[in-house]
Amino acid sequence: MAISTTESLYETLRSRLSRVMPDFEIRLKAEIAEEIIELKRRRNAVILAHNYMEPALFYSVPDYRGDSLELSRMAATVEAEVIVFCGVRFMAETAKILSPDRTVLLPASGPAGCSLASSITAADVRALKARYPGIPVVAYVNTYADVKAEVDICCTSGNAVAVVESLDADTVIFLPDEFLARNVARETGRKILLARPGGEAEALPGPGARGELIGWNGRCEVHELFTVEDVETARAQFPGVVVLAHPECPPDVVAAADFSASTSAMTRFVEESRAPHFLLLTECSMGDNIQAANPDKDMLRLCSHRCPHMAEITLEDVRDALLHDRQTIELPEDIRSRALASLQRMIAIS
Ligand code: 13P
Ligand code: SF4
Repeated sequence: MAISTTESLYETLRSRLSRVMPDFEIRLKAEIAEEIIELKRRRNAVILAHNYMEPALFYSVPDYRGDSLELSRMAATVEAEVIVFCGVRFMAETAKILSPDRTVLLPASGPAGCSLASSITAADVRALKARYPGIPVVAYVNTYADVKAEVDICCTSGNAVAVVESLDADTVIFLPDEFLARNVARETGRKILLARPGGEAEALPGPGARGELIGWNGRCEVHELFTVEDVETARAQFPGVVVLAHPECPPDVVAAADFSASTSAMTRFVEESRAPHFLLLTECSMGDNIQAANPDKDMLRLCSHRCPHMAEITLEDVRDALLHDRQTIELPEDIRSRALASLQRMIAIS
């Protein structure tokens, strides 16, 4: 009997995921993935997926997988008519900014927000620029399009230090992630000062201050939960464990870790390392994805810390997005074109 495509997709998923998912769920997900592959062909669609997607999605339907920077680069060059972006809203918006002629779909059951993106508004950025005229402003890509439209350049976790250094400026405003700003300040040898929204400034410098990174008080609701105690407990239980921490983690956690970089750089680090145990301080699904691809290594992860926004994107939502054009990303052209300039400056230097 000829093996149906569904059977072969099931087999492929099973060989990859049998250590991280029960068999009945792999079979169910393979059937949905098969429907999606047919819809993708019919609609001339391409699927981009962030490293945090659940394993069954991550290893079945995406054409490209990666971190924010890699997916931004990919979104800028896509030729398909439809981009299905399996990531949170600011990522799908970034794809629309870079590829305005494509239909961009966000396959999510809810708004797919992000605590960093919602921590700052375009009005907040305008107020900071009025207070610090002439100081360049960097926005982490974890911001919405109207915020990107107000700044000079964007950055991701993969190029934040390079972007700040490219500006050749003593003082830089770096928004909105406080911990990423503190980690970048340490790496670029700057003092960090926090601008507080609408309130009293904490040691805020006057205009003309030098050698500083002016940050904001945004936090990733997932990464802020990791502690140095987590690192110490894992080291005591698993001697030789290699600790990987995303740069959105608190600075003391990053300092206690062995390696800190973007989600893709951490994935490559595990692939290239010969250590047997790794503690991954980032979204838990990524640990499952790395574990599935590296069965000879043990990934320790703290799965009580999940990103509820990334979890809104499932294979079922991808199928429904392609069937019903849900949720289509639209942006006002004046905001899109100004946000594009900030993203293009970033892409040009990385
Ligand atoms: P990366 O750019 O490293 O993939 O990170 C995105 C993100 O949202 C991390 O929480
Ligand atoms: Fe935003 Fe944190 Fe979720 Fe990343 S993990 S999307 S920064 S809330």
